[in-house]
Amino acid sequence: MRKVRIIGAGLAGCEAAWQLGQRGMEVELFEMKPLAYSPAHTSPYLAELVCSNSFRSMDPETGIGLLQLEMAELGSLIMQVAQDVAVPAGKALAVDRELFSKEITRLVTAHPNIKVIYQEVQALDEVADGSCPVILAAGPLAGAHLANDLARIIGQDSLAFYDAIAPIVSTDSVNMDVAFWASRYAPEDKDYLNCPMNKEEYLRFVSELKAGDRVLARDFESQAHFEGCLPIEVMAERGEMTLAFGPLKPVGLVDPRTGTQPFAVVQLRSENLGKTAMNLVGFQTRLTYAEQKRIFTMIPGLEQAEFLRLGSIHRNTYVRAPEVLTQYLELRARPGVYLAGQISGVEGYLESAATGLWLGLFLAGKIALPPVQTALGALLGHLRTPAKNFQPSNVHFGLMPDLGCKAPKKKRKVLYATRARKTWQQWYQKVEE
Ligand SMILES: Cc1cc2nc3c(=O)[nH]c(=O)nc-3n(C[C@H](O)[C@H](O)[C@H](O)COP(=O)(O)OP(=O)(O)OC[C@H]3O[C@@H](n4cnc5c(N)ncnc54)[C@H](O)[C@@H]3O)c2cc1C
Repeated sequence: MRKVRIIGAGLAGCEAAWQLGQRGMEVELFEMKPLAYSPAHTSPYLAELVCSNSFRSMDPETGIGLLQLEMAELGSLIMQVAQDVAVPAGKALAVDRELFSKEITRLVTAHPNIKVIYQEVQALDEVADGSCPVILAAGPLAGAHLANDLARIIGQDSLAFYDAIAPIVSTDSVNMDVAFWASRYAPEDKDYLNCPMNKEEYLRFVSELKAGDRVLARDFESQAHFEGCLPIEVMAERGEMTLAFGPLKPVGLVDPRTGTQPFAVVQLRSENLGKTAMNLVGFQTRLTYAEQKRIFTMIPGLEQAEFLRLGSIHRNTYVRAPEVLTQYLELRARPGVYLAGQISGVEGYLESAATGLWLGLFLAGKIALPPVQTALGALLGHLRTPAKNFQPSNVHFGLMPDLGCKAPKKKRKVLYATRARKTWQQWYQKVEE
């Protein structure tokens, strides 16, 4: 029987193990709990949900709703159990977290092809001896010894330990009567979308930032404030003009409507080649999601902004995937070792499980790469798309190729979703054959 070893029995590790086990492969699944716990894990069960109990929207006209459908069709364990222990949550898929982890633990530990080994893996070589493929799925809070070993193998600069995420908005939700394309000192350049502010708008914005409700840092996250990526609200607290001399500095930018330099400028940088999604430069933040929506829509041009992702700052171990992984999630520096879950460069419970699902099926010889027009394909595509400043991502329409046609904002979601479903069904037919 062919064997695969997996490090970490979280969402990605359990999903991968299940897929492999179901296809007759022998799995050794290493889990450090209950011998050692990360600062956020507390339960002895596998596939623990460390924070929210929600797998987000089930709306099939969202990236995550589509991903849920695709995962369910591929026979996802995480999706199956989530549906079995779902609690009422409107349009969201939320679960009873204890029942969820207990049931996954029961199914995984009882599987005849899966052996759970309770041990903290401290170095890759302990399990990656060349005799079988290894999946590293140790999560965003991977044990320190193992994380340091990975950094040694791929290079210190290729492994991040913190994540400072700025919000992303969809380009077609930006008010182009206010915002303008230009780079600093290059008005003809279309790299940045600029939202100009006058003095009054700027000062009101700074004052709201300072007063905004924040997510409290956990103990193990208290060192998250590096000077290089301070939360925008912390910068605002340092002085009224700190932002105007920092990320909101207007120098080199002329508003084509007034012919003058604005008092301050919020710059948006494109997230993809199609420029369908834009990142608010320097807007990493600990403001609550509700406050981000309220305060960031005060920015001229963003009044009606659709947020594809909101900002956050948290402890997160992940690789700079496009540099260190092949398209099949295999470490270039250590062939035979694959990455799945948050550590591979995705963000979110389901996205983590989705990479484990795909990798399990891939190593069982059952699946190829899905087209990038699908949710799973777009997510995996993100991991191989070169980026100057690679950051983990949730699944959203901005990761998919542009529609290639003009359509009103409301219709675009439907068009993305329809194309995704159609492409998926054509591709999935071949998987089944
Ligand atoms: C504090 C925090 C809160 C989060 N909240 C949310 C949220 O609300 N919603 C959301 O969608 N996403 C959230 N995420 C992001 C992410 O989706 C989850 O962390 C998700 O659990 C990642 O899945 P995973 O399988 O990659 O890792 P995990 O689910 O963390 O699984 C990794 C497993 O590996 C084990 N392990 C680690 N190191 C070793 C080792 N050396 N040897 C053996 N075993 C090891 C761990 O004990 C763990 O069981 C959060 C992340 C963090 C850090």
